[in-house]
Amino acid sequence: MSLIFDRYERVIDYMRISVIDRCNLRCVYCMPSSGISPFSHKDILSYEEIIRIVKVAAGLGVRKVRITGGEPLVRKNLEYLISSLNGIYGIEDISLTTNGVLLAEKAFALAAAGLRRVNVSLDSFIPERYKEITRGGSLDTVLHGIQEAENAGLSPVKINMVPVKSVNDDEIQHFARLTIEKPCHVRFIEFMPIGAKDAWSREKYISTEEIKERVSQIAPLEPVKLRRAGPARYFRFSGAAGVIGFISPITHHFCGSCNRLRLTADGKLRPCLFSETEIDLKSSIRMGSDDSEIERLLRLAVEIKPEAHAINQQQDFAYLKPMSRIGG
Ligand code: SAM
Ligand code: SF4
Repeated sequence: MSLIFDRYERVIDYMRISVIDRCNLRCVYCMPSSGISPFSHKDILSYEEIIRIVKVAAGLGVRKVRITGGEPLVRKNLEYLISSLNGIYGIEDISLTTNGVLLAEKAFALAAAGLRRVNVSLDSFIPERYKEITRGGSLDTVLHGIQEAENAGLSPVKINMVPVKSVNDDEIQHFARLTIEKPCHVRFIEFMPIGAKDAWSREKYISTEEIKERVSQIAPLEPVKLRRAGPARYFRFSGAAGVIGFISPITHHFCGSCNRLRLTADGKLRPCLFSETEIDLKSSIRMGSDDSEIERLLRLAVEIKPEAHAINQQQDFAYLKPMSRIGG
C-alpha cells in the first residue's frame, strides 16, 4: 500500500470532507445569528464526485475519512456516501462529526452503512445555556442522539467541547468528570478566531494549559497513548473508564502531527485549516479531468501543506471562512 509524505515528513493519510455547509443550529462561536448564505446544491460536490476523489486519494495513501460540515446529517442519504466510501480499497476508517441533533434517528442506519465512530459537539449540560449557545438547540435531543449512537455501537462516542470564558467554562470540570464512569472521550478544543466574526476575543479564549489545570484540580491526570490520537493529547484520571483529550490549535502541539487534507463542501482542497490557500478540485473535475489530473492536484495540495500556522503570533487575526464552510 502506498504512503504519501509532505515536505516535512508527515504522512498524509487522513481526509476531512465537508459534505454540506448548511446547518440546523447557529452556534454563537461558529456562525452569525443570520446564518451564512449557503452554497446552492449545484455548487456542492455530488456524492459521486466525492467518491471519485476519495478513490484517487486512497490510491495515494489516504486511509481515514471524516465526514463533517456544516451539519453532515442534514444532507440526504448520507448512508449512501458512507457505504460507498466503505467499499473503497484502502479506506480503513470512516467517522463523522455532528452536532447530534439528527443522530437518534440516524445512528443505526449510519452504523449499518459502515460508520465506525462519531464525534458529537456539545458545549453545555444546562438546557437553557445549550439553547443559547446553539441559538435554539435542544439538549435532550442531543443526549438522546448520543445514547442511540452508543446503542448502535458507534463507540467510543467523542464529545467535543469548546470552552469559552464566562459562557460555559464553569462546566469544564463537569465534562471531565463524565469520563470517570463512562467509557467516552471528552475533548476540549481551544476556541479559535474563525467563524462568527464578533464572537472571538482574547478575553473569551481559554488556553489548553488553563483548561488542563482546572481539570487536574479534580484528580491528577495520567498521559494515555491512543492509536488514532491525531492532534489531540490524551489523559485519564487513574482508574477512569474514559479519557480526556486536549486539542490546542492556538497554543501548540497541533501542526507537527497534522496528517490531514480538507475537502470543502464546494470542492476545494485545503491543505491547512488556517491558510486560505485552496485548490479548486471541483472545477477541474467538472471540466472533464481524468483521475491522473485529480491525483496531480491531490499531490500538489500535499506538496504545499505548510509546516505550521502562525496564528498565535498574530495580534489581530484575519478572520477565515467559517468552520461550517471549511469543514470542522
Ligand atoms: N456541525 C457539526 C458539529 O458541530 O459537530 C460539524 C461541523 S462543526 C464546524 C465542527 C467542529 O468545529 C465542532 O466541534 C465545533 O465545536 C468546532 N468549531 C466551530 N467553530 C469553532 C471555533 N470558532 N473554535 C473552535 N471550534 C470551533
Ligand atoms: Fe452548526 Fe457545527 Fe457550526 Fe454549530 S459548530 S453552527 S452545529 S456547523
